[in-house]
Amino acid sequence: MDKLIKGLHHITSMAADAQKNNDFFTKALGLRRVKKTVNFDAPDVYHLYYGDETGTPGSVMTYFPFGQMPTGTRGNGEVGVTEFAVPRGSLGFWTDRLASHGVSELRKDRFLGEDRLTFSGPDGDSFALVETEVEGRVPWTAGGVAQDVGVLGFHGARFRLRDAAATGELLSFMGYQKDETEGAVTRYRIENGNAARTIDLEETPQAAPARQGAGSVHHIAFAVEDRDAQLAVRKALMDTGYQVTPVIDRDYFWAIYFRTPGGILFEVATNEPGFDRDEDTAHLGEALKLPTRYEPHRAQIEAQLPPLDQ
Ligand code: ZN
Repeated sequence: MDKLIKGLHHITSMAADAQKNNDFFTKALGLRRVKKTVNFDAPDVYHLYYGDETGTPGSVMTYFPFGQMPTGTRGNGEVGVTEFAVPRGSLGFWTDRLASHGVSELRKDRFLGEDRLTFSGPDGDSFALVETEVEGRVPWTAGGVAQDVGVLGFHGARFRLRDAAATGELLSFMGYQKDETEGAVTRYRIENGNAARTIDLEETPQAAPARQGAGSVHHIAFAVEDRDAQLAVRKALMDTGYQVTPVIDRDYFWAIYFRTPGGILFEVATNEPGFDRDEDTAHLGEALKLPTRYEPHRAQIEAQLPPLDQ
């Protein structure tokens, strides 16, 4: 499947409170809410998407806010850190801004030659802002964060694994190349994709398995250009012995899913058709959008969902 994978598409996590989650991403981080819909498998739960102006693949963080939900425990077999790219020289701004929004565990360090700021999200989610050069990405500025410091989509993600070997082999099979190593972390990088191009594998053999809950990543999605590329990836994975779901229509992309050797759920999602397929770019994320099969139940679904301000 050489060259079919184009970096990350989106990362999907779980949250407790929808409004807190919304406010953290739109007000503290200054992202745009590009879609307000429901969990297609459980329509009494929102599915909220945050990204740049149009939800460009590689910029999209999504959440299922389940309401009352125990906080997850970090450990092996999960995406341990979700990393966003920010312009060089912006971490001073971000340290002050996030502190003023009450964000906890702010810590600046340097890793694999990059300056970064790590911090916790509203449910203990593990995030990092990484200063890096990014070409061809424009931050969303209507959220109150200026162009010269705004978030430029994902930089990548760090996986925590008891044993990284099999996941490293899978990433190589997907077109990633083994890159630098620092401590227990080995970086994999994909060329010729979008700007969300790194996956760091951290081997933590002593750690306990992660327990999923609020603040945990549910799955990580890799981008392919279109449905033909997706079918080719699906076939290549199945020929290698992976059990892959059929293609599922998620309205804004098509998706396939498979469980990886280290325990992390991978998705491969198409760049087509995108988040503007059912609303104008100027009004993305404002109205509650439902998949067609739930439209007859709209009134009931809206009554079950908690109120959510812009
Ligand atoms: Zn997904």
